Amino acid sequence: MRRFLPYAAAALIIIGLGLLVCSAVIHIHNIRTSSGMEGSGNAGKDDFPEDNGAQNASDGGLFKVVVDVNDIPALYENSASQNNGAAQNNDTSQGHDTAQDTDSNGNEEPSDPQPSGSEPAFVPYRDPDHIVNTDTTLYTYEMMKTDLYYLTAAHPDIMELRTLGTTEDGRELYVVLFGNRKADRQIFICAATHAREYMTTQLVMKQMEFYAAHYHDQSYNGVPLSEIFGRTCFVVMPMVNPDGVSISQLGEQGIRRQDLLDNVRAIYASDTARGYTSLDYASYLVRWKANVLGTDINRNFSPGWESVNEHPVPSADHYKGAAPGDQIETAAQMQIMRELSNPILAVSYHSYGNLVYYQYGQQGDLYTRNQQLAQHISNMTGYTLAGYSNEAGFANWCVHVRGIPAVVVETGSTAAPLPLSQFADLWGRHQWMWAMLGTVY
Ligand SMILES: [Zn+2]
Repeated sequence: MRRFLPYAAAALIIIGLGLLVCSAVIHIHNIRTSSGMEGSGNAGKDDFPEDNGAQNASDGGLFKVVVDVNDIPALYENSASQNNGAAQNNDTSQGHDTAQDTDSNGNEEPSDPQPSGSEPAFVPYRDPDHIVNTDTTLYTYEMMKTDLYYLTAAHPDIMELRTLGTTEDGRELYVVLFGNRKADRQIFICAATHAREYMTTQLVMKQMEFYAAHYHDQSYNGVPLSEIFGRTCFVVMPMVNPDGVSISQLGEQGIRRQDLLDNVRAIYASDTARGYTSLDYASYLVRWKANVLGTDINRNFSPGWESVNEHPVPSADHYKGAAPGDQIETAAQMQIMRELSNPILAVSYHSYGNLVYYQYGQQGDLYTRNQQLAQHISNMTGYTLAGYSNEAGFANWCVHVRGIPAVVVETGSTAAPLPLSQFADLWGRHQWMWAMLGTVY
């Protein structure tokens, strides 16, 4: 018997450790669940209590959770370390304030999810209501990524971060499920399909932050935001083309893979040789619209792809690709629109022109509904209704393949990239866009 005693003792220790770990995990989960409602009192605390991943907005294999409530501490650590490594993303003004927050009940609780055992100063504190930086035009992919982690960590009850896949140059195609993820209808919002139109990402991120911050204390036309977002899930893709955005913002520094960098240099040589551009290389990259392969995502959809022949070869813009849907970004957008159970409309933010495009050759009732959508947006923004738009774009695909109203909203009044002075104008016109759409539809 004596020889079995050590084994029995070891088994007891293992069981004991197991119970400890289980209780710790449950404890962490409870902290996250309760602290996600900061500043909102108890209202809506049990809005979506059975969120277990089986959601109307989230079926399908391509559509993966990247920030699960239970994973947030680890992701925060990851986010912070990447943040520290990205020079353009250091935000010293927000400091390393790790002081405790006081919730609405006067109880102290951790202001941020902290990986257990890590240095408290490792994760910089960010006020969840003022995360998105609108004081710079260079709102980069890395900044957006960090902000998505922060926002999701602050509002896990109404935000879920997912990815549709990874781009050619290794960036995630993020999608946020905002509001009630179990709602039986979805509104799709996307931005920065064209690289140099990246201020639209900032706009959409600011919209998300605003609605999250005021989810429980503001209304639109008398309807509480919690009610608007409680009955419709907003599926938001804030940066459709992160590789292209990185080129326009950072030049060659924005290209990670050497073979892709060589290819972009070759595309510049080709565009120059064809007489398509006379810009110097740096200015040419700033005005880049395509993805990193030189394919224009908004010319890569079918139907209508065959009739688009603006450029025969990869270019900074308007090359349609070798086949419809052959680009990762295009395929991801088609996939998510197919997987959503009941998308009721789609808005694709572009720049510039202060215009709303809505005519794609659709007929009858769908045309009428699409025109109404465009008119609602025009009424809110003061933008002009535009005529027939290009084929082979995302909105065209939504109309003809998915059978839903879709618009392209061209923001800004000067050539993209929009200068920082344009942001206040964009914000003034678009701050209440989601609430309007969620109220009218
Ligand atoms: Zn565009």
